[in-house]
Amino acid sequence: MRLLFLGPPGAGKGTQAKMIAEEFGLLHIAPGDIFRQEVKAGTELGHLVEGIMAEGRLVPDDITIQIIEKRLNSPEARNGFVLDGFPRNLAQAQALKDMLERKGERLDLVIDLVVPEEELLKRSMSRRVCAKCGKPYNLNLDPPEVEGRCDVCGGELIVRDDDKEDTIKERFRVYHEETEPLREYYAKCGILVSVDGCGDIDSVCDKIKMCLLDKGLIREAKDR
Ligand code: AMP
Repeated sequence: MRLLFLGPPGAGKGTQAKMIAEEFGLLHIAPGDIFRQEVKAGTELGHLVEGIMAEGRLVPDDITIQIIEKRLNSPEARNGFVLDGFPRNLAQAQALKDMLERKGERLDLVIDLVVPEEELLKRSMSRRVCAKCGKPYNLNLDPPEVEGRCDVCGGELIVRDDDKEDTIKERFRVYHEETEPLREYYAKCGILVSVDGCGDIDSVCDKIKMCLLDKGLIREAKDR
């Protein structure tokens, strides 16, 4: 199964993509996570992308495409994958199509998570992440058991640099200008499904699994 999640910042792509990947044994590929790891590790790539990410802009296509191609060609992607945050513009979508064609593959489904902008802003503002292990939280929907501390490792919960207000605004602008046209692109390919991304995490995941069932990509919506 080869899936792609589309949606504006804060729509829940990361959370849902990880859940689906884990349940069905697919490789989760998220350039945002990869870039954050590089920043944390202080690598050359990390230094290069740190400022770009903090401003909410896109990392140059050639760098991003190269990283994604490496993951897609890795043995872990053999059973399928879930792309989360790539492609983010038409040039990346074309590059993805070419990469997959070279392997004789193509995308099975593009899941577009739909959430009203007002709700998205609220979500982004209440998003926190563990400074130690990276686990994400939402102070409204999914708060930690102890305020300000990670349930898993006890690390401090912080606001991600790119969740600061100015950055959020820039991320929305970039989304509308560069990423939103991909909805039409994939609708024309006949592989786009829109899923209502409002509601709690499990109910959104159930809706996604119903789409996978509907398209014959899974045989049963396994229990969590
Ligand atoms: P995300 O975690 O998906 O919200 O991504 C965080 C940041 O990483 C974005 O705001 C961009 O700066 C960068 N990034 C993630 N995916 C891409 C991509 N496909 N192309 C360029 N930059 C990306």
